[in-house]
Amino acid sequence: MTKPVPLSEIYVPLHRIIPFSNVEGQGNRTSIFLQGCKLNCLYCHNPETIPRKNSEAKLVSLQYLYDQVMNAVPFIRGVTVSGGEPTIHHKKLVPLFTALRQQGLTCYLDSSGFFDYDSTQSLIAVTDKFLFDLKGDGLGLQTLCFERRNQQGKVPTQIIPTTQHIKTENLTRNWQNLAKLLPHNKIEEVRLVFIKDFFDAYHLVEKAALLLRDYPEVLFKIIRVHSKGARDETGLTPFIPTMEETQALAEFAKQCGIQKITTIT
Ligand code: SF4
Repeated sequence: MTKPVPLSEIYVPLHRIIPFSNVEGQGNRTSIFLQGCKLNCLYCHNPETIPRKNSEAKLVSLQYLYDQVMNAVPFIRGVTVSGGEPTIHHKKLVPLFTALRQQGLTCYLDSSGFFDYDSTQSLIAVTDKFLFDLKGDGLGLQTLCFERRNQQGKVPTQIIPTTQHIKTENLTRNWQNLAKLLPHNKIEEVRLVFIKDFFDAYHLVEKAALLLRDYPEVLFKIIRVHSKGARDETGLTPFIPTMEETQALAEFAKQCGIQKITTIT
């Protein structure tokens, strides 16, 4: 049998660590933000975490992260790893989560949901819960989150019509992953960043309700997009829904059968 590699010999790029946070899942948690994301959301308020390499990110060992988390015990219930997109480090996170769970801590992932399910299974097995983003739907999602050439995060003046719902492997992977994770009791909350015009939010809520109405314990969080921290604040501003529009979407989600809903306006 091969000897496991010690935590001190496995390195990940760390963007930052927050010892205590109560907005990243249940209870007080240590939040770890890793560097790197395959998406390029125009509203990303942490765009410096998108490149795989960034001069401000430092390579740290899993032992360092483990020690930081254990320093916060007994004031935390667990750890949430975010990004960037944490699942791009899926192999490396397995031994960290395994070690922390042995200490009675819960391990969460804050993910866009765009990952390859099969190759991420070892990490899913040692993850207690996902905080799962629904980024959008259809071709507008391509413009909103997948245009990697748009490094400046410039909001285009012309958006692809939201009425087109083209199913391609890439754009629907998150839905497939959500459907697989729900029956395994792996989802704590599903988040929708509500932005106007890039996709039909009502259509998206209807689709989400088909999955979520059998899981009344899962929180559906509608987050009204904001422009602070985005690369093109001015360009994003016209796409911010009003508070009333956000509440109306939440009401619609309720009518569709989603039971646990909250809005962040
Ligand atoms: S998924 Fe989008 S919002 Fe999240 S880190 Fe990546 S680019 Fe930013």
